[in-house]
Amino acid sequence: MIKPIIAANWKMHKTVAESVDFSQRLAKECEDLDEREVIIAPPATALYAVSQTLKGSTVRLSAQNMHWEEKGAFTGELSAPMLADIGCHYVLIGHSERRTLFGETNETVNKKLRAALHFGLKPIVCVGETLKEHESEATFEVIKKQVNEGLNNISTGDIECVSIAYEPVWAIGTGKTATPELAEEVHRFIREMLSSGFGESVGTEIAVIYGGSVTPHNIGELMAKPTINGALVGGASLDLESFTGIIRY
Ligand code: PEP
Repeated sequence: MIKPIIAANWKMHKTVAESVDFSQRLAKECEDLDEREVIIAPPATALYAVSQTLKGSTVRLSAQNMHWEEKGAFTGELSAPMLADIGCHYVLIGHSERRTLFGETNETVNKKLRAALHFGLKPIVCVGETLKEHESEATFEVIKKQVNEGLNNISTGDIECVSIAYEPVWAIGTGKTATPELAEEVHRFIREMLSSGFGESVGTEIAVIYGGSVTPHNIGELMAKPTINGALVGGASLDLESFTGIIRY
């Protein structure tokens, strides 16, 4: 049984003080909530302060991005060991905003994934088709390429630490959600790929979560689908009441 993951991606929002205040209140809300893996991904400036705030809490800390190299002349970047050093457990890799705005490719996703695993971070790898791809019925072809190339050369042992987030790009920040039926179909397809690439059990043991305009109102119907193991939440994670509504779906 996969523990449902509810992850907040705050993107470029919240000061350090706001992040710490939110995390303190969230940690209290989650004190009695063993049945969810709750994760927050604050902006990089707040990671250390939030990691101190979350000490002793069940809420897990994630970075929103990382570089694949361990160290060196990469101005403005953060490495996996740096993130692990300040208490990150997870890292988002290949978010669609990183792909479309910052030129990330399946190849860089794969490099980041391997580095994250090497340094003990749990990667949440984001995949998803654009509106144009969706409308031209290329969804499965795009997902297949992103999963195959993104997860290239990952060992069966390591894949168990990876989660996949299916985030149709046309549903991110738009208020349009994929229907639970469509999300389920894509999630099933991803699971089948994982099973054929890494062994039957992997397809049933890895968390595949959905992202794209998730709110307290639509989380219930999404989570009712057996192939959906959680949610990656952007806009609706910025407000504590709304985020806890999603966690307690
Ligand atoms: C995201 O950024 O990963 C996301 C899903 O955003 P939103 O919930 O705002 O659509």
